[in-house]
Amino acid sequence: MTTKLNHRDCQNFAAIDVSKGICHLTKNIVLADTEQCEDCAPLRKCSGCKQFSATKGALEMGVCGASKADPKFFAYPDMVATTCEMYQGH
Ligand code: SF4
Repeated sequence: MTTKLNHRDCQNFAAIDVSKGICHLTKNIVLADTEQCEDCAPLRKCSGCKQFSATKGALEMGVCGASKADPKFFAYPDMVATTCEMYQGH
């Protein structure tokens, strides 16, 4: 999995629509899928959690190992986890 971050992966990014947003630091409009700046504050996502696992070749969808449901609930790498109480960073 890539570690390259884009603006949409930053806590300072506020989405306007699917392709662009506003940076809270600079107040500039930025494209969501363009590379981060040096002030990027990475947003906590399932991809950074020890509990997240995905089948090789199907990285866009996985499961949450901390889930108590049977079967365990689906998770995806880009899912924002700022309020997840089960999050375990690498
Ligand atoms: S514990 Fe939370 S952050 Fe970790 S994979 Fe499960 S839902 Fe995502």
